[in-house]
Amino acid sequence: MVDNMSKRGFDPLTYRFEGEEPEPGGIKEVADGVFWARMPMWDRLNHINVWLLRDNEAWTVVDTGLNREDIQKCWQTIFDTFLEGKPVTRIFATHLHGDHTGNAGWICRKWGAELWMSRSDFYMCKVMAADGPNDVPDDAIKFYRRAGFDESRLARYRERFGQFGANISELPAGYRRVTDGQYLEIGGREWRAIIGHGHAPEHVCLYCPELKVIIAGDQILPKITPNISVNPSEPNANPLRDFINSCTRFREQLPPDLLVLPAHESLYEGVHERLTELIDWHEVALEKLYELCAEPKRAVDVFPALFKSDVTDTSFFPATGESIAHLHCALERRMVRVEEDEDGVAWWQQA
Ligand SMILES: [Zn+2]
Repeated sequence: MVDNMSKRGFDPLTYRFEGEEPEPGGIKEVADGVFWARMPMWDRLNHINVWLLRDNEAWTVVDTGLNREDIQKCWQTIFDTFLEGKPVTRIFATHLHGDHTGNAGWICRKWGAELWMSRSDFYMCKVMAADGPNDVPDDAIKFYRRAGFDESRLARYRERFGQFGANISELPAGYRRVTDGQYLEIGGREWRAIIGHGHAPEHVCLYCPELKVIIAGDQILPKITPNISVNPSEPNANPLRDFINSCTRFREQLPPDLLVLPAHESLYEGVHERLTELIDWHEVALEKLYELCAEPKRAVDVFPALFKSDVTDTSFFPATGESIAHLHCALERRMVRVEEDEDGVAWWQQA
């Protein structure tokens, strides 16, 4: 994630419910039948926003927080206090990342509820969660060597490998597939699934025309840009092209006057402005990348085009993925070319 607030001359968004954030284990109604809860996290993003939707004689949950005991206690307090004796019957996970899917399996088993996800994210989540610490594939090492990792960075990669599953309680064997444009009836209202790309394979957003609300997950965050990364699982992907195209399509399909419910930070109005900002931010980053590549650069050398603060040990991996995503987009636009040296390291230069 990149903090791009300082890139703005002014902030065109209107924040809602600031100072009214629910405490852990509490909820706040933000639209008719739409309730906001916050689950703690432990990194720079210290929380995730999750949602409960009144669903006739039941409840629907959207996103679930990391699989940790104290977060399950928060959920239990919500279940004991606010559900009016009605069960949770379905859980939506907007996408595969652990802060969204972490307790989905746990809540499904607790209530006998169904999990609703996009197909790509359901299966990718299962595959990634199954990776053990000893399974580091040779082609993944080759991928990071090509990006410019030295031996100590590669050792860190080997150490970190296989940790994805630690944040996720086991997903159920089966799920309900959510597809783009799908009509969903929740609490007697029409909701529509809109799928975005780039941050996750098929990121589900839930839009309710009647309430003028969109549950946006990580796809349209107000102050930071979601991480857009190329990973060893699809080493030639161009997720930044996919993300920019999604922003354009969302801007065409959504009305401007929505309350956006993002997975992190504040609720806001100004979805068209924010989508334009997200596109512009990446376009500017591509121009800076081009300037930087006047001399040949490795993926790990182009961080200054994308990040204004120093890249730390923990942000080094997502920063590398994000750099490669920008380089691949620039390559497809014929802005840069790439050559591999005899050690298999890729050097990028203005075309
Ligand atoms: Zn995410």
